[in-house]
Amino acid sequence: MSSLENLLENNNRWSKSIREDKPDFFEKLSKQQAPKYLWIGCSDSRVPANEIVDLLPGELFVHRNVANVVVHTDLNCLSVIQYAVDCLKVEHIIVTGHYGCGGVREAMNNTKLGLIDNWLRHVQDVKKKHTELLNNAGNDDEQFQRMCELNVLEQVLNVCQTTIVQDAWDRGQSLTVHSWVYGLKDGLVRDLALSVTSNDDIEAKYSVALDSIAQKSS
Ligand code: ZN
Repeated sequence: MSSLENLLENNNRWSKSIREDKPDFFEKLSKQQAPKYLWIGCSDSRVPANEIVDLLPGELFVHRNVANVVVHTDLNCLSVIQYAVDCLKVEHIIVTGHYGCGGVREAMNNTKLGLIDNWLRHVQDVKKKHTELLNNAGNDDEQFQRMCELNVLEQVLNVCQTTIVQDAWDRGQSLTVHSWVYGLKDGLVRDLALSVTSNDDIEAKYSVALDSIAQKSS
C-alpha cells in the first residue's frame, strides 16, 4: 500500500471516540497546554510516552531521542527543557530509559552504524565511567540491564546541571528531576530512586541510586 489510509482511518476513529466522551476536548485543548510533566525518553517505538503513563494529549510534554541522551550542546533538547521549565512551568522532568535499548546495546558493542555512532559516543562515555560496576555485574545480559539504568542516572545528572534547571532552583521554582526505567517485557516502570529537587540533593541521592544499582550486581 502506497498511502497511509489505514493510519488516517485510525486517526478518525480515535478523534471520534474522544469527542464522543468529551465533546469540547480538542476545542479546549487547542487554546492552551498546561502539562505538569516533561518526559525525556528513547525514540524506540515500543516506549510510547503518553500510553505508558496513560495520559491524554495536553498532559505530557515530550522529548525523545535515541537512548534518551541529554547533551549540554544539544540545542534541540535544551530548548525543550527551557520551554518546559520557563514557559510551561512543568513541575517534573522524567528521564525514562528502557531495558533492551538498542542504542545502549550498540554503544556497548561498539557497533559501527554510521552517523549515529557519534551520538552513541555519549552512551559509551557512561560505560567508561562505570567500567568497574559493569565488570562486576554478571553476564552480558545483566551488564546490559545495568547499563540501561546507569545511562538514566547520568542523563538525570546532565538535566540537573543545565543552566535551565540550575536557574529554576535558584529562583525557588518547584521542579523535580526523576529517573525511570521501563520494562519492554512487562510494560512496567521502575523508579531508580534518583529524584532530585535541589542542588543540595544531587550528590547524596546519586550515590544512593548508584549503590542500589551496584547491589543488583553483587
Ligand atoms: Zn532505546
